[in-house]
Amino acid sequence: MKGLVLRIEKSSIYDGDGLRTVVYLKGCPLSCKWCSTPESQEKKIEYGYGKVMTSDEVVQEVEKDAVFFYHSGGGVTLSGGEVLMQADFAKEILEKCIFLGINTAIETSLYAKYEEFEKISPFLNSLYVDIKMMDNLSHKKWVGTSNNLILENLARICEDNPNLNIHVRIPVIPSINDTKSNIQSTIEFCEKFSNIRDVELLPYHKFGVDTYKKLGRNYDLSHIESPKIEDLKKLALSVERMELKPSLIVDGKNIK
Ligand code: SF4
Repeated sequence: MKGLVLRIEKSSIYDGDGLRTVVYLKGCPLSCKWCSTPESQEKKIEYGYGKVMTSDEVVQEVEKDAVFFYHSGGGVTLSGGEVLMQADFAKEILEKCIFLGINTAIETSLYAKYEEFEKISPFLNSLYVDIKMMDNLSHKKWVGTSNNLILENLARICEDNPNLNIHVRIPVIPSINDTKSNIQSTIEFCEKFSNIRDVELLPYHKFGVDTYKKLGRNYDLSHIESPKIEDLKKLALSVERMELKPSLIVDGKNIK
């Protein structure tokens, strides 16, 4: 089948184990104020962003990097946008990759019906989930929706998929969600599930600002600077832990 792809990037070291080929799909139901890929949000081609591809075309492109996957322990990662907005297309890509022996992962906000995730779960090795903030009012203000569906989905996925490697990521945005209470409550939520391997604190960045200009859109957070890695480490170290798992990661290193 055909789907809408934003772009395919090679040799990423940030989107799963080893070297990853990352397939960015277009369309996202959320509207995070800090979104660094605003060109991924609309599920249509706009300003030249986006390309219709078949699942076979995507897999052929991914397969070109098989030698790098073999030597680095990498594979394919589907990202977005929101992968689960094109779950049928994603399922076809992941199923074909698994058949070829390619390791698979997705990055998702989990803001989707649970049935959409169930379509792809048999073909997944690892799952990366963004939890932006635990406070629901703040989530509505900064992301545009409630976080109930996201947290309900994550809890259900953990229970239904005990062997799936699950990684949680928090994009840390100064003055918006960089509080001890937010990190603490995220960790406390994740500690309930043994298959959540780690919680990673990712520093906010402004890489997408020029794209907002190209799209004719305003970027509301231009006054906010990226946090220093040292500040993220202090934030991680301030959290009180009940369990050894999940580990807390900053700058790719296990902090706690
Ligand atoms: S979930 Fe990701 S792609 Fe969607 S708006 Fe938020 S940051 Fe952008």
